[in-house]
Amino acid sequence: MVKKASKQAILEGIHARIFWCAGSPQGFIAGHCRKAVLRTVDVDTCPHISMQHRVITFSRNVFLPLTTVCRNRCGYCIFRTPVGEGCLMQPGEVVTNLRRGEVLGCTEVLFTFGERPEEEPGFQRMIRAIGYESILDYCYDMCWESIRAGLLPHTNAGIMTYEELERFKPVNASMGLMLETTADIPAHRNSPGKDPAVRIEMMENAGKLKIPFTTGLLIGIGERTSDREESLEVIAGLHRRYGHIQEVIIQNFCPKEGTPMEGAPVPDSEEICETIRMAGEILPRDVAVQIPPNLADARMLIGCGVDDLGGVSPLTIDYVNPEHPWPQIARLKELVGDAVLRERLCIYPQYIEKGWYHPNIEGLIRHLAHMIEEREGS
Ligand code: SF4
Repeated sequence: MVKKASKQAILEGIHARIFWCAGSPQGFIAGHCRKAVLRTVDVDTCPHISMQHRVITFSRNVFLPLTTVCRNRCGYCIFRTPVGEGCLMQPGEVVTNLRRGEVLGCTEVLFTFGERPEEEPGFQRMIRAIGYESILDYCYDMCWESIRAGLLPHTNAGIMTYEELERFKPVNASMGLMLETTADIPAHRNSPGKDPAVRIEMMENAGKLKIPFTTGLLIGIGERTSDREESLEVIAGLHRRYGHIQEVIIQNFCPKEGTPMEGAPVPDSEEICETIRMAGEILPRDVAVQIPPNLADARMLIGCGVDDLGGVSPLTIDYVNPEHPWPQIARLKELVGDAVLRERLCIYPQYIEKGWYHPNIEGLIRHLAHMIEEREGS
Protein backbone atom coordinates (compact mmCIF):
# COMPACT_ATOMS: atom_id res chain seq x y z
CA MET A 1 0.00 0.00 0.00
CA VAL A 2 1.34 3.42 -0.90
CA LYS A 3 0.98 5.88 1.92
CA LYS A 4 0.19 9.43 0.87
CA ALA A 5 2.63 11.93 2.32
CA SER A 6 1.14 14.92 4.10
CA LYS A 7 1.79 18.36 2.66
CA GLN A 8 3.78 19.25 5.74
CA ALA A 9 5.92 16.15 5.39
CA ILE A 10 6.64 17.01 1.80
CA LEU A 11 7.60 20.52 2.80
CA GLU A 12 9.94 19.35 5.50
CA GLY A 13 11.34 16.42 3.62
CA ILE A 14 12.33 18.13 0.43
CA HIS A 15 12.99 21.68 1.53
CA ALA A 16 10.42 23.03 -0.93
CA ARG A 17 9.01 26.49 -0.45
CA ILE A 18 6.58 26.92 -3.31
CA PHE A 19 5.43 24.38 -5.82
CA TRP A 20 4.21 25.39 -9.22
CA CYS A 21 1.13 23.71 -10.51
CA ALA A 22 -1.10 24.22 -13.49
CA GLY A 23 -4.00 23.25 -11.26
CA SER A 24 -5.83 21.33 -13.97
CA PRO A 25 -5.75 17.70 -15.12
CA GLN A 26 -4.05 18.87 -18.32
CA GLY A 27 -1.29 20.26 -16.19
CA PHE A 28 -0.06 16.87 -15.08
CA ILE A 29 2.73 15.00 -16.75
CA ALA A 30 3.58 11.51 -15.60
CA GLY A 31 2.11 12.07 -12.17
CA HIS A 32 3.89 15.33 -11.49
CA CYS A 33 2.21 18.63 -11.05
CA ARG A 34 3.36 20.65 -14.03
CA LYS A 35 4.91 24.00 -13.35
CA ALA A 36 3.03 26.97 -14.65
CA VAL A 37 5.56 29.66 -15.39
CA LEU A 38 3.07 32.46 -14.91
CA ARG A 39 1.58 31.60 -11.54
CA THR A 40 2.23 29.94 -8.23
CA VAL A 41 0.27 27.50 -6.19
CA ASP A 42 0.87 27.36 -2.49
CA VAL A 43 1.23 23.87 -1.09
CA ASP A 44 -1.76 24.42 1.15
CA THR A 45 -4.09 25.22 -1.74
CA CYS A 46 -2.94 22.76 -4.39
CA PRO A 47 -5.11 19.64 -4.17
CA HIS A 48 -2.50 17.61 -6.04
CA ILE A 49 0.48 18.46 -3.91
CA SER A 50 1.02 14.95 -2.59
CA MET A 51 1.69 13.81 -6.15
CA GLN A 52 4.51 16.28 -6.57
CA HIS A 53 8.20 15.69 -6.62
CA ARG A 54 10.68 18.30 -5.60
CA VAL A 55 11.18 20.91 -8.34
CA ILE A 56 14.53 22.49 -9.20
CA THR A 57 14.48 25.39 -11.63
CA PHE A 58 16.88 27.12 -14.01
CA SER A 59 16.80 29.88 -16.58
CA ARG A 60 18.13 29.58 -20.14
CA ASN A 61 20.18 32.72 -20.61
CA VAL A 62 22.73 34.69 -22.58
CA PHE A 63 25.49 36.36 -20.52
CA LEU A 64 26.74 39.64 -21.98
CA PRO A 65 29.48 41.49 -20.05
CA LEU A 66 29.23 44.94 -21.64
CA THR A 67 32.56 46.00 -20.17
CA THR A 68 35.35 44.45 -18.14
CA VAL A 69 36.48 47.86 -16.85
CA CYS A 70 35.59 48.44 -13.21
CA ARG A 71 36.36 51.02 -10.54
CA ASN A 72 36.76 48.31 -7.88
CA ARG A 73 39.79 46.10 -7.16
CA CYS A 74 38.45 42.94 -5.51
CA GLY A 75 41.17 40.60 -4.31
CA TYR A 76 39.74 37.54 -6.09
CA CYS A 77 38.78 39.00 -9.47
CA ILE A 78 40.10 38.12 -12.93
CA PHE A 79 37.12 39.59 -14.75
CA ARG A 80 38.34 43.16 -14.46
CA THR A 81 40.75 44.51 -17.11
CA PRO A 82 42.32 47.92 -17.71
CA VAL A 83 40.92 50.23 -20.35
CA GLY A 84 42.15 48.92 -23.69
CA GLU A 85 41.24 46.99 -26.77
CA GLY A 86 38.40 44.54 -26.22
CA CYS A 87 37.29 45.99 -22.87
CA LEU A 88 33.96 47.16 -24.28
CA MET A 89 31.55 44.81 -26.04
CA GLN A 90 30.48 46.54 -29.22
CA PRO A 91 26.77 47.05 -30.01
CA GLY A 92 27.00 44.82 -33.09
CA GLU A 93 28.32 41.94 -30.98
CA VAL A 94 25.56 42.44 -28.42
CA VAL A 95 22.85 42.33 -31.08
CA THR A 96 24.37 39.28 -32.79
CA ASN A 97 24.43 37.39 -29.48
CA LEU A 98 20.87 38.41 -28.67
CA ARG A 99 19.69 37.04 -32.01
CA ARG A 100 21.65 33.82 -31.54
CA GLY A 101 20.25 33.44 -28.04
CA GLU A 102 16.71 33.86 -29.32
CA VAL A 103 17.30 31.17 -31.96
CA LEU A 104 18.62 28.82 -29.24
CA GLY A 105 15.46 29.30 -27.19
CA CYS A 106 16.95 31.50 -24.47
CA THR A 107 14.56 33.64 -22.45
CA GLU A 108 16.92 35.92 -20.51
CA VAL A 109 19.88 38.17 -21.14
CA LEU A 110 22.14 38.81 -18.18
CA PHE A 111 23.91 42.16 -18.43
CA THR A 112 26.70 41.96 -15.86
CA PHE A 113 29.72 44.22 -16.10
CA GLY A 114 32.26 46.31 -14.24
CA GLU A 115 30.96 48.96 -11.87
CA ARG A 116 31.16 52.67 -12.73
CA PRO A 117 33.87 52.19 -15.42
CA GLU A 118 33.72 55.94 -16.19
CA GLU A 119 35.84 56.47 -13.07
CA GLU A 120 38.74 54.75 -14.86
CA PRO A 121 40.91 57.03 -17.04
CA GLY A 122 40.32 56.56 -20.75
CA PHE A 123 36.95 54.80 -20.51
CA GLN A 124 34.89 57.91 -21.22
CA ARG A 125 36.58 58.26 -24.59
CA MET A 126 35.74 54.64 -25.46
CA ILE A 127 32.08 54.87 -24.51
CA ARG A 128 31.71 58.16 -26.37
CA ALA A 129 33.20 56.51 -29.44
CA ILE A 130 30.12 54.27 -29.63
CA GLY A 131 27.74 57.18 -29.03
CA TYR A 132 27.05 57.05 -25.28
CA GLU A 133 27.93 59.14 -22.25
CA SER A 134 27.99 56.26 -19.77
CA ILE A 135 27.87 52.47 -19.56
CA LEU A 136 24.38 52.73 -18.05
CA ASP A 137 23.13 54.72 -21.06
CA TYR A 138 24.57 52.01 -23.28
CA CYS A 139 23.09 49.21 -21.18
CA TYR A 140 19.68 50.88 -21.20
CA ASP A 141 19.64 50.85 -25.01
CA MET A 142 20.85 47.25 -25.08
CA CYS A 143 17.97 46.31 -22.76
CA TRP A 144 15.63 47.65 -25.42
CA GLU A 145 17.52 45.70 -28.08
CA SER A 146 17.09 42.61 -25.94
CA ILE A 147 13.33 43.13 -25.62
CA ARG A 148 13.10 43.64 -29.38
CA ALA A 149 15.06 40.43 -29.91
CA GLY A 150 12.68 38.51 -27.64
CA LEU A 151 14.77 38.12 -24.46
CA LEU A 152 13.98 39.46 -20.99
CA PRO A 153 16.77 41.66 -19.58
CA HIS A 154 18.21 41.11 -16.12
CA THR A 155 20.79 43.78 -15.29
CA ASN A 156 23.48 43.59 -12.62
CA ALA A 157 25.57 46.72 -13.08
CA GLY A 158 26.96 46.95 -9.56
CA ILE A 159 25.92 49.92 -7.47
CA MET A 160 23.09 52.02 -8.93
CA THR A 161 21.27 54.97 -7.41
CA TYR A 162 17.52 55.03 -6.73
CA GLU A 163 17.00 57.13 -9.86
CA GLU A 164 19.06 54.75 -12.00
CA LEU A 165 17.12 51.75 -10.74
CA GLU A 166 13.89 53.60 -11.44
CA ARG A 167 15.05 54.24 -15.00
CA PHE A 168 15.99 50.58 -15.55
CA LYS A 169 12.90 48.95 -14.06
CA PRO A 170 10.72 49.47 -17.17
CA VAL A 171 13.24 47.60 -19.35
CA ASN A 172 14.14 44.79 -16.94
CA ALA A 173 12.19 41.76 -15.76
CA SER A 174 14.39 41.56 -12.67
CA MET A 175 17.69 42.96 -11.46
CA GLY A 176 20.47 41.87 -9.17
CA LEU A 177 23.38 42.68 -6.91
CA MET A 178 25.34 40.18 -4.85
CA LEU A 179 25.53 41.28 -1.24
CA GLU A 180 28.56 38.93 -0.97
CA THR A 181 29.02 39.62 2.74
CA THR A 182 28.18 42.13 5.41
CA ALA A 183 31.71 41.72 6.80
CA ASP A 184 34.50 44.21 6.33
CA ILE A 185 37.14 42.02 4.61
CA PRO A 186 40.62 42.68 3.18
CA ALA A 187 39.51 41.42 -0.28
CA HIS A 188 37.25 44.49 -0.55
CA ARG A 189 39.70 47.05 0.80
CA ASN A 190 40.12 48.75 -2.59
CA SER A 191 36.52 48.35 -3.72
CA PRO A 192 34.27 51.26 -2.73
CA GLY A 193 31.28 49.54 -4.30
CA LYS A 194 31.68 46.56 -1.97
CA ASP A 195 30.93 48.59 1.14
CA PRO A 196 28.12 46.48 2.67
CA ALA A 197 26.14 49.58 3.69
CA VAL A 198 26.13 50.85 0.10
CA ARG A 199 24.98 47.49 -1.22
CA ILE A 200 22.25 47.12 1.38
CA GLU A 201 21.02 50.62 0.53
CA MET A 202 20.74 49.70 -3.15
CA MET A 203 18.87 46.50 -2.32
CA GLU A 204 16.55 48.54 -0.14
CA ASN A 205 15.93 50.98 -3.01
CA ALA A 206 15.15 48.06 -5.33
CA GLY A 207 12.58 46.93 -2.77
CA LYS A 208 10.97 50.38 -2.61
CA LEU A 209 10.71 50.30 -6.40
CA LYS A 210 9.21 46.78 -6.41
CA ILE A 211 11.96 45.31 -8.56
CA PRO A 212 12.13 41.49 -8.37
CA PHE A 213 15.65 41.05 -7.11
CA THR A 214 18.47 38.52 -7.05
CA THR A 215 21.24 38.68 -4.49
CA GLY A 216 23.59 36.29 -2.83
CA LEU A 217 26.62 35.42 -0.73
CA LEU A 218 30.12 34.81 -1.97
CA ILE A 219 31.55 32.35 0.48
CA GLY A 220 35.21 31.85 1.30
CA ILE A 221 36.41 35.42 0.71
CA GLY A 222 37.54 36.01 4.27
CA GLU A 223 34.24 36.11 6.11
CA ARG A 224 33.35 33.98 9.13
CA THR A 225 30.38 31.65 9.58
CA SER A 226 28.76 34.26 11.81
CA ASP A 227 29.14 36.81 8.97
CA ARG A 228 27.29 34.45 6.62
CA GLU A 229 24.52 34.19 9.16
CA GLU A 230 24.37 37.95 9.52
CA SER A 231 24.33 38.44 5.72
CA LEU A 232 21.41 36.03 5.38
CA GLU A 233 19.58 37.77 8.24
CA VAL A 234 20.02 41.12 6.47
CA ILE A 235 18.63 39.70 3.20
CA ALA A 236 15.74 38.07 5.06
CA GLY A 237 14.99 41.39 6.78
CA LEU A 238 14.95 43.26 3.47
CA HIS A 239 12.58 40.67 2.03
CA ARG A 240 10.27 40.92 5.03
CA ARG A 241 10.08 44.67 4.55
CA TYR A 242 9.73 44.83 0.77
CA GLY A 243 8.98 41.28 -0.47
CA HIS A 244 11.28 41.64 -3.48
CA ILE A 245 14.04 39.06 -3.02
CA GLN A 246 13.22 36.25 -5.43
CA GLU A 247 16.42 34.25 -5.05
CA VAL A 248 19.65 34.13 -3.05
CA ILE A 249 22.76 32.67 -4.67
CA ILE A 250 25.15 30.72 -2.48
CA GLN A 251 28.29 31.04 -4.55
CA ASN A 252 31.63 29.60 -3.56
CA PHE A 253 34.84 31.55 -4.09
CA CYS A 254 37.13 30.00 -6.72
CA PRO A 255 40.76 31.16 -6.51
CA LYS A 256 42.24 32.63 -9.68
CA GLU A 257 45.88 32.61 -10.65
CA GLY A 258 47.52 36.00 -10.57
CA THR A 259 45.10 37.50 -8.03
CA PRO A 260 45.98 38.47 -4.45
CA MET A 261 43.79 35.57 -3.27
CA GLU A 262 45.19 32.91 -5.57
CA GLY A 263 46.46 30.87 -2.61
CA ALA A 264 43.46 31.37 -0.33
CA PRO A 265 41.75 28.21 0.96
CA VAL A 266 38.58 27.21 -0.87
CA PRO A 267 35.39 26.30 0.94
CA ASP A 268 34.77 22.57 0.68
CA SER A 269 31.44 20.97 -0.19
CA GLU A 270 30.55 20.46 3.48
CA GLU A 271 30.97 24.16 4.19
CA ILE A 272 28.90 25.13 1.16
CA CYS A 273 26.23 22.61 2.16
CA GLU A 274 26.14 24.06 5.67
CA THR A 275 25.61 27.56 4.23
CA ILE A 276 22.83 26.32 1.96
CA ARG A 277 21.11 24.75 4.96
CA MET A 278 21.57 27.96 6.92
CA ALA A 279 19.99 29.90 4.05
CA GLY A 280 17.04 27.52 4.07
CA GLU A 281 16.54 28.13 7.77
CA ILE A 282 16.97 31.91 7.77
CA LEU A 283 15.33 33.00 4.52
CA PRO A 284 11.56 33.26 4.17
CA ARG A 285 10.06 30.26 2.38
CA ASP A 286 9.25 32.13 -0.82
CA VAL A 287 12.91 33.02 -1.46
CA ALA A 288 14.66 30.45 -3.64
CA VAL A 289 18.15 29.24 -2.75
CA GLN A 290 20.35 29.06 -5.82
CA ILE A 291 23.76 27.57 -6.58
CA PRO A 292 25.72 28.00 -9.81
CA PRO A 293 25.98 24.43 -11.13
CA ASN A 294 29.41 25.02 -12.73
CA LEU A 295 31.29 26.05 -9.57
CA ALA A 296 30.73 23.28 -7.06
CA ASP A 297 29.57 19.71 -6.72
CA ALA A 298 25.99 20.47 -7.71
CA ARG A 299 24.82 16.86 -7.50
CA MET A 300 25.86 16.68 -3.84
CA LEU A 301 24.69 20.20 -2.94
CA ILE A 302 21.19 19.81 -4.34
CA GLY A 303 20.44 17.53 -1.40
CA CYS A 304 21.34 20.35 0.99
CA GLY A 305 18.25 22.37 0.03
CA VAL A 306 18.86 23.99 -3.35
CA ASP A 307 15.82 25.26 -5.23
CA ASP A 308 17.41 26.71 -8.34
CA LEU A 309 20.46 26.40 -10.60
CA GLY A 310 20.41 29.96 -11.91
CA GLY A 311 21.12 31.07 -15.43
CA VAL A 312 22.67 28.44 -17.67
CA SER A 313 23.69 29.43 -21.17
CA PRO A 314 23.79 27.31 -24.30
CA LEU A 315 25.61 30.18 -26.03
CA THR A 316 27.95 32.21 -23.83
CA ILE A 317 30.53 31.31 -21.17
CA ASP A 318 30.61 32.28 -17.51
CA TYR A 319 32.85 35.32 -17.96
CA VAL A 320 33.40 35.68 -14.22
CA ASN A 321 34.62 32.06 -13.89
CA PRO A 322 35.72 31.23 -17.45
CA GLU A 323 37.64 28.14 -16.30
CA HIS A 324 34.34 26.56 -15.19
CA PRO A 325 32.10 25.77 -18.18
CA TRP A 326 28.37 25.54 -17.59
CA PRO A 327 26.94 22.04 -17.86
CA GLN A 328 24.84 21.32 -20.91
CA ILE A 329 21.14 21.72 -20.18
CA ALA A 330 20.67 17.97 -20.79
CA ARG A 331 23.24 17.33 -18.04
CA LEU A 332 21.23 19.40 -15.55
CA LYS A 333 18.56 16.69 -15.62
CA GLU A 334 21.14 14.17 -14.42
CA LEU A 335 22.38 16.54 -11.73
CA VAL A 336 18.95 16.96 -10.13
CA GLY A 337 18.50 13.20 -9.74
CA ASP A 338 14.99 12.37 -8.51
CA ALA A 339 13.85 15.97 -8.55
CA VAL A 340 12.00 17.47 -11.49
CA LEU A 341 13.96 20.02 -13.51
CA ARG A 342 11.86 22.96 -14.68
CA GLU A 343 12.75 25.99 -16.70
CA ARG A 344 11.70 29.41 -15.40
CA LEU A 345 11.88 33.02 -16.48
CA CYS A 346 14.19 35.55 -14.82
CA ILE A 347 11.09 36.98 -13.11
CA TYR A 348 9.62 34.43 -10.71
CA PRO A 349 5.91 33.52 -10.99
CA GLN A 350 4.92 35.30 -7.77
CA TYR A 351 6.10 38.64 -9.20
CA ILE A 352 4.25 38.06 -12.47
CA GLU A 353 1.12 37.42 -10.43
CA LYS A 354 1.69 40.61 -8.45
CA GLY A 355 2.25 42.59 -11.65
CA TRP A 356 5.75 43.75 -10.67
CA TYR A 357 6.77 44.43 -14.25
CA HIS A 358 6.33 47.26 -16.72
CA PRO A 359 3.79 47.03 -19.56
CA ASN A 360 6.83 47.25 -21.91
CA ILE A 361 7.57 43.60 -21.23
CA GLU A 362 4.18 42.12 -20.41
CA GLY A 363 3.66 40.62 -23.88
CA LEU A 364 7.17 39.17 -23.89
CA ILE A 365 6.73 37.62 -20.44
CA ARG A 366 3.55 35.88 -21.56
CA HIS A 367 5.06 34.78 -24.87
CA LEU A 368 8.16 33.29 -23.22
CA ALA A 369 6.18 31.64 -20.43
CA HIS A 370 4.02 30.00 -23.07
CA MET A 371 7.12 28.92 -24.98
CA ILE A 372 8.57 27.24 -21.88
CA GLU A 373 5.32 25.49 -21.11
CA GLU A 374 5.11 24.23 -24.69
CA ARG A 375 8.71 23.06 -24.53
CA GLU A 376 8.15 21.22 -21.27
CA GLY A 377 4.98 19.66 -22.57
CA SER A 378 6.64 18.36 -25.72
S1 SF4 B 1 33.29 44.59 -8.62
FE1 SF4 B 1 33.27 42.72 -9.85
S2 SF4 B 1 34.35 43.25 -11.74
FE2 SF4 B 1 34.82 44.82 -10.25
S3 SF4 B 1 36.75 44.16 -9.33
FE3 SF4 B 1 35.10 43.41 -8.01
S4 SF4 B 1 34.63 41.33 -8.75
FE4 SF4 B 1 35.85 42.39 -10.33
